[in-house]
Amino acid sequence: MANSEPVEEHAAVWFQASACSGCVVAALNGVAPTVRDLIVDQIAPGHHVSLKFQPTIMAGSGTVAVDILGATEEAGEGYLLVIDGALPTAAAGLFGRAAGRGGESTMHERALELAEKAAAVVAMGTCAAYGGMHAASPNPTGCVSVSDALAGAGIEKPIVNIAGCPPHPDWFTGTVGHVLLFGLPTADDVDAAGRPKRFFGRLLHDLCQRRGDFEANRFATSVGEPGCLYELGCKGPWTHADCPEREFNGGVNWCVKAGSPCHGCVEPFFPDVASPIYRKIGLPELPRVALDEGSGRLAAVMRPQPAEDE
Ligand code: SF4
Ligand code: SF4
Repeated sequence: MANSEPVEEHAAVWFQASACSGCVVAALNGVAPTVRDLIVDQIAPGHHVSLKFQPTIMAGSGTVAVDILGATEEAGEGYLLVIDGALPTAAAGLFGRAAGRGGESTMHERALELAEKAAAVVAMGTCAAYGGMHAASPNPTGCVSVSDALAGAGIEKPIVNIAGCPPHPDWFTGTVGHVLLFGLPTADDVDAAGRPKRFFGRLLHDLCQRRGDFEANRFATSVGEPGCLYELGCKGPWTHADCPEREFNGGVNWCVKAGSPCHGCVEPFFPDVASPIYRKIGLPELPRVALDEGSGRLAAVMRPQPAEDE
């Protein structure tokens, strides 16, 4: 039956920076909704996402695609800017090239240009949110997070961090849907690391199906065994995400259920402080976060001292 209700179009642009493409693959593997639902149908009654630019899935390429991006920028109507990947800054940003207006640019420069005209920014994945794998020590490319890049350039835009390496597709679609329907998350909706509390508000360890094993001191001694994986390096006790309840691949499985310790991939200290991945980390080594006194948001992550046996 035809629906005569007006549909509000929401322009969106997805810019891919220094990343492995895992975040894009994760979003494409969304089950409810699927990516088709997201960009063809209405994300909610009366609301449609008009995805103008997404290099992995768009049919156009080369100048045609770049021109669409430029036209969206120039339209001056604001758009939701999604960035996955960190932004290389070393060597004037030359470790990450991007097609720019009138020629070649850098990922760093292009991301700043796009952010200037965006209504809001979604940092998709841990690399975009906090630097992640691409900013891992010794970080020769000088990768920085989207929020650090914008702050460094004096650009003030609302940013939501969808952490994860890669994020669960629900975390992305749920956040985009919330932004379109209800506006940007308020300060009460996000945690100190800029993540929506709806998905990242609880300790993974408290939701884990093996928590009973932890309390009863039943620990696995090798990957794949039953029992709590804490002794094998599980970072669940200081990781905030709903993976045990939500589960990946359409609600089929998640890391611990599959026999692998949680690596803390959604945290600002991943991967440096979370490494070695399979070594037990004790309470004295818990990472500490410093908050900006004015905004109450994440300002820094203090790294624990290396263990004496390393
Ligand atoms: S497997 Fe990890 S998250 Fe689950 S109870 Fe053990 S330490 Fe906590
Ligand atoms: S269980 Fe841990 S490592 Fe696995 S996706 Fe969730 S936060 Fe990341």
